[in-house]
Amino acid sequence: MANIVDLSHDLDSGLSIYPGDPTFSSCPHLTLEADGVNVQSISLGSHAGTHVDAPYHFIADGKKIHEIPLSTFVGRAIVADLTEDGIGRELEDREEIQWEALARYEEAMASTKDTILLLRTGWSRYWGTPKYFNHPYVSCEAARRIVAAGVRLVGVDALSPDETILDEAQAATFSYPFHKIALGAGVAIAENLTNLEAIRHGNWVVSLVPLKLIGSDGSPVRACAWRQGTL
Ligand SMILES: [Zn+2]
Repeated sequence: MANIVDLSHDLDSGLSIYPGDPTFSSCPHLTLEADGVNVQSISLGSHAGTHVDAPYHFIADGKKIHEIPLSTFVGRAIVADLTEDGIGRELEDREEIQWEALARYEEAMASTKDTILLLRTGWSRYWGTPKYFNHPYVSCEAARRIVAAGVRLVGVDALSPDETILDEAQAATFSYPFHKIALGAGVAIAENLTNLEAIRHGNWVVSLVPLKLIGSDGSPVRACAWRQGTL
């Protein structure tokens, strides 16, 4: 039987929510004691926890989550290791990741069209803490080169591939360059992945399938991976 690796964070009250997004709740609606059956009532934003972004998140006429083929979300993954294991040092708070750190993966990105590129920053270990918001982010040049290499989906083990601006006034004028470059080219984004260290060696297939939320700009996912050929 295939060993399936979980790449998802827990969805509970300890989750890190993007500033301004809806809060998360999951509470009993019906209970075994009172109603003879357990049914939860859940409330969450489309970008809660481990999730994917559709182009419509930033592009007015971009594809919505239900319009993207399922094949976009399942496929061979390349893990670009930007932790000490990959680049010999840990990334710093709010460090801009340059193309130079990713260039050695360019051949792999381009070798099969439509690969899924997963950026391992190591920031998933700060999930649920204030430091999670001070994550590194990807430069515009790197965003353009990734898109040019023919990647179909970019995932990151952090809150966003763009910097997260905590000051509300500054956030209102921030341009979200990575999101606009990738989503504008029809490249989907996955955020808040975790456990990427488990799949950094060998050939892995990942599944980042969203809920069939009609008209939505994104969706929570149960991200997972298995070794190619084992399922
Ligand atoms: Zn998102």
